[in-house]
Amino acid sequence: MAKAKKYVYFFGAGKAEGRADMKELLGGKGANLAEMTNLKIPVPAGFTLTTEVCTYYYAHGRKYPPELKAEVNKAVAGVEKVMAKKLGDPGNPLLVSCRSGARASMPGMMETVLNIGLTTATIPGLIRLTGNPRFVWDAYRRLIMMYSDVVMEKAAGLEPAEGKGIRQQLERVMEGMKHEVGAKTDTDLTSDNLEKLCACFRAKVQEVIGKPFPDDPQEQLWGAIGAVFQSWNGRRAISYRRIEGIPGEWGTATNVQAMVFGNMGDDSATGVAFTRNPATGENKFFGEWLTNAQGEDVVAGIRTPNPLNISTKSEHTAHLKSLEEAMPATYKALVDIRNKLEKHYRDMQDIEFTIEKGVLWMLQTRTGKRTGPAALRMVVEMLRERLIPKEVGVTRVTPAQLDELLHRILDPKAEKTAKVLAKGLPAGPGGTTGRIVFTAAEAVAWAEKGESVILCRKETNPEDVEGMRAASGILTALGGMTSHAALVARGWGKCCIVGCGALHIDAESHALSVGDTVLTEGDWMSLNGSKGVVYAGQLPTVDPDPENPMLVEFLKSCDAVRKLGVRANADSPKDAAVARKFGAEGIGLLRTEHMFYGEGADEPLFKLRKMILSNSLVERRAACEELYPYVKNDIKGTLAAMDGLPVTIRLLDPPLHEFVPQAEDKQAELAASLGITVDDVKKRAADLHESNPMMGHRGVRLGVTYPEVSEMQIRAILEAAAELLKAGKKALPEIMIPVTCTVAELTNQAAIIAKVKAEVMAKFGLKKLSFLVGTMIEIPRAALTAGKMAEAAEFFSFGTNDLTQMGFGFSRDDIGAFMPDYLDKKILAADPFQTIDQEGVGELIKIGIERGRATRPNLKVGICGEHGGDPASIHFCHKVGMNYVSCSPFRVPIARLAAAQIAVKDAAGKQPAKKGKK
Ligand code: PEP
Ligand code: MG
Repeated sequence: MAKAKKYVYFFGAGKAEGRADMKELLGGKGANLAEMTNLKIPVPAGFTLTTEVCTYYYAHGRKYPPELKAEVNKAVAGVEKVMAKKLGDPGNPLLVSCRSGARASMPGMMETVLNIGLTTATIPGLIRLTGNPRFVWDAYRRLIMMYSDVVMEKAAGLEPAEGKGIRQQLERVMEGMKHEVGAKTDTDLTSDNLEKLCACFRAKVQEVIGKPFPDDPQEQLWGAIGAVFQSWNGRRAISYRRIEGIPGEWGTATNVQAMVFGNMGDDSATGVAFTRNPATGENKFFGEWLTNAQGEDVVAGIRTPNPLNISTKSEHTAHLKSLEEAMPATYKALVDIRNKLEKHYRDMQDIEFTIEKGVLWMLQTRTGKRTGPAALRMVVEMLRERLIPKEVGVTRVTPAQLDELLHRILDPKAEKTAKVLAKGLPAGPGGTTGRIVFTAAEAVAWAEKGESVILCRKETNPEDVEGMRAASGILTALGGMTSHAALVARGWGKCCIVGCGALHIDAESHALSVGDTVLTEGDWMSLNGSKGVVYAGQLPTVDPDPENPMLVEFLKSCDAVRKLGVRANADSPKDAAVARKFGAEGIGLLRTEHMFYGEGADEPLFKLRKMILSNSLVERRAACEELYPYVKNDIKGTLAAMDGLPVTIRLLDPPLHEFVPQAEDKQAELAASLGITVDDVKKRAADLHESNPMMGHRGVRLGVTYPEVSEMQIRAILEAAAELLKAGKKALPEIMIPVTCTVAELTNQAAIIAKVKAEVMAKFGLKKLSFLVGTMIEIPRAALTAGKMAEAAEFFSFGTNDLTQMGFGFSRDDIGAFMPDYLDKKILAADPFQTIDQEGVGELIKIGIERGRATRPNLKVGICGEHGGDPASIHFCHKVGMNYVSCSPFRVPIARLAAAQIAVKDAAGKQPAKKGKK
């Protein structure tokens, strides 16, 4: 008989039914509570309702599996036994919390209810037990607030008008009470005040929702469980899942756990901490805590929390007492747990704890989100500490995080002289400048217009995620380093400053002020998210340092693990030098025509135009001779910069019309130089007009029609190499023939290469001149006939820009008109010009490699289209057995990382699966 499904997993008293590797079933929180329990770390007893309950619930018209009730009852009895209290017992009541916990962390996107089990029957008992009526009434008012909001309103599908939600209404009742009794803060309310407030709350709930507040612990418990499962499909959660790519089918687990209280007086506290600093990665225990508070107070940013220890105090928190100073023994116990957890999980953990009357309890541990710089530092230091091997290290920095390190910061020089508007906590790294907006909707609207925006809020809440995503920076007046805004921004690697107390935001009038400075929607602002500094106005930004020692060390680990080579697309000696700094192992594409654009291009461009407009062999040979020294010098400079690393030089591939002069004075100049009239120039230019230049007289076709043009370039390449060799330097050119579709084109050009090679060797008295001859594969026919192409080509480089263009029949210059619709309507999952279409274009690549290597087993294969810098495409290139990828110099580090990550994944896939893992 098949074993009955188990829906509830218990943990408590040092033993748990679950484990850390059961996240799919128990969610992240549940799995880690189980793991900590098994590690004998103090965790209040509880149980997890599995994600399968959630999926069952949605598959069966929001009903639970029939056996769930009995399993929950049994687990409640287990908790009661461990805690020696009973749910609903008037003399000795147990209170529980109910929290969501999906497989992937979704901070603040789903619901939580605390203090379940407080009823008119149990309140007196708890007062007697604790001797602290104020605490009990405070706990009850929190229960009413959360439960009425989460269970009675949201989960019931009520959608009150703005400002009319039950939570806001109750908050107003509380503000009224504070005003009435002259209390400045919540903590000034007395026990009597709170008792009265609870009565007012219950009346308000009845009035607004039309139902009494439930006074039965079982009803409260099941109401809360239902609300958590409901919240999986709440608007916020769906929106977050869409952005993060979390599948809806996963479902959430629900954790029910005995309450422990951080708000039982001055010997009680609650806090959130990271085993290392999540913003910088520094190996220092880092966190925030509050005395006499519940966990939500820290995260919600209602009170500014205290620093955890002395060594992590900042100028903003220097005056506040740390836990280390206030409760040294408990702090030491927490440090021991921190060490145990880091050793066990071998990664930075994000933990939540509560101290109830001096006793420490752990409520959560999970892998902590971190900024790019922090991720890098942690990996490098953990590798040095030998806590993790390289294969693990390289998986700990995402390509997006690495991107952060390679991205902009505010120009430090400009920052030095800029006037600081305000300071806050540095929650998300880097620097940004943008226009001020005050709501998530405005952020989305401005960003859609192509504007960089900074979303300024008092605090953010999960409803703001779309706007936070659209913004280039986030600034909040309230909240700490663990507030919602900080967590979400850090996860996304977004520039963010929180807790900027000097900031007064008036969202209604669309203005913010700091002292006398008033800024309104659309005004410019700049943020330094690494330091927490805010500036009014638009500050310049700069690119970061590729020689950052941590980055260099980390990328060395990537290099040790990866199998794919990484080259750069670089067209000049200057680009080549940058590419080498970023770690390129060669140049995969040098587009010769680029020497005719930009700085210093005037003279060579003039000569090229002469060559293009020549209409006899004599004229063209003369023009080629004039052009030759420019081409040779450019190539020689790049070969020298790469110092013996391979440089793939592509023969000219310009759509000719692009180079024909349009301006009268340029035409006149050219006419004079060619000894013809301006009208002749115009006529010759008109003759070059093509209806479809992308498929016109370009690439190898030029070399077939005008062999003298190929000859000039080949001579430039080989003489540049020969001159370097003669000077005792190294040079390894690879001649690449573009836009080929048949092997006959290659043999045609190979004859020219052979002739020039012999001449150059003779001229320089060389016995040996090493170089390769290969082709781009960028036309489907070339891929399909790769077996033949490889007869004449020593290497292939997939030109996936053109291969995508010609594979799809999409003009690469005109996709803007329809690609957004294709993506919106899900006709295509992604833009195939950004990430390789593995199903179609990828198939052409696979065929090309297979057939090419069938002819020439040691055929060198690379990619030089834009896809060479896209992590998903790089993974594909690894899988199909390419030798290298080539991408823009700035993306070389990302390519090194992506190549290492796929190598690790590939190796893991080839190992036998570990037993007993879920
Ligand atoms: C390509 O087609 O992928 C390529 C690299 O060449 P270009 O972009 O210059 O056409
Ligand atoms: Mg091309």
